[in-house]
Amino acid sequence: MTRISSKLLRLIKENQRFLIVTHLNPEGDAIGSSLGLAMGLKKMGKAVYLLDRDPVPETLRFLPASELFRRKPPDDTPDVLILIDCNTIERTGFTSLKAGDTIIIDHHGPEQEVSRAVRSGKISGALISTTASATGELVYRLLLTLGVPIDKDIATNLYASIMVDTGGFKYSNTTSRSLRIASKLVEAGAEPWRIAREVYENIPYRAMRLLSLSFSTLQKKDGVAYITVTRDMFKRTGTTAQDTENFVEYARWISGVEVALLFREEDGGIIKVSLRSKGRIDVSEIARAFGGGGHAPAAGCRIKGTLESVRKRVLRLVSDAIRADRSGN
Ligand code: 5GP
Ligand code: MN
Repeated sequence: MTRISSKLLRLIKENQRFLIVTHLNPEGDAIGSSLGLAMGLKKMGKAVYLLDRDPVPETLRFLPASELFRRKPPDDTPDVLILIDCNTIERTGFTSLKAGDTIIIDHHGPEQEVSRAVRSGKISGALISTTASATGELVYRLLLTLGVPIDKDIATNLYASIMVDTGGFKYSNTTSRSLRIASKLVEAGAEPWRIAREVYENIPYRAMRLLSLSFSTLQKKDGVAYITVTRDMFKRTGTTAQDTENFVEYARWISGVEVALLFREEDGGIIKVSLRSKGRIDVSEIARAFGGGGHAPAAGCRIKGTLESVRKRVLRLVSDAIRADRSGN
């Protein structure tokens, strides 16, 4: 487990004004870990500005303090910028954000690159661990080390972040540590049934109609299942990309499937690909080959091209990975 450096603790204790920013298209971990940290820092008497270029998804607006997110950077320069659940400015969608110091709190790789940035002084400090199931785990440890009491609202945010990034404690990144931390968060007041209901059982009707259109494209070949969402489907159902949250999960549930894919048509000739693994294949490697990233069980990338050409390119790499796994490589 990565140690929390005394320099990082000092940067937090000795500064006053913090800007917390997370990645584009934020999901439960991005939002929950940011909010948990923001509330913890506020308890320490700090001033916190929460930033995300994209809005908080509707299903996450029940999270305590989610209304604090702003979509424009602050006018003044904060003491410390915290990049959370991402480790580059590019992933935030902003070109530059001014601050005295910059800290990274994240569970995406590669760790070495972040360590190098810290050593070279480009980054002032980092808490990065790719073995953490969610950034929320890291925030929990950080707040504990800082001596911040975890109240019900912080617990709710951090529990949501771990629940979402472990796919509801089902993905291969679910560890005894994630369950132990989740248990502590429940003791602190997080309500698992309520959080799961808000996140997973609160789908707008229009999104279900989109799902039914999208599922009519379902294909399964060897260990891969994939579905497609076209712009025409969005138009017919009055939906947006946000309504496709978790669609790829349903394809992952199919018996005999190792990897599930969702191809989503975006503007400007871009196809967004969501990749999910049942545990044997590291889909982040495949996403990285196309300039994306993520984790072994869940990853994504954006590829320029037609639906047909992108599907072909991605399916080729996925089939190769499944074949290599079967032959024991
Ligand atoms: P999703 O398929 O739900 O959009 O993303 C799954 C995970 O893959 C995210 O939590 C994130 O870690 C990663 N991811 C998705 N899209 C991108 C991308 O375009 N670039 C990078 N680096 N990671 C992505
Ligand atoms: Mn995450």
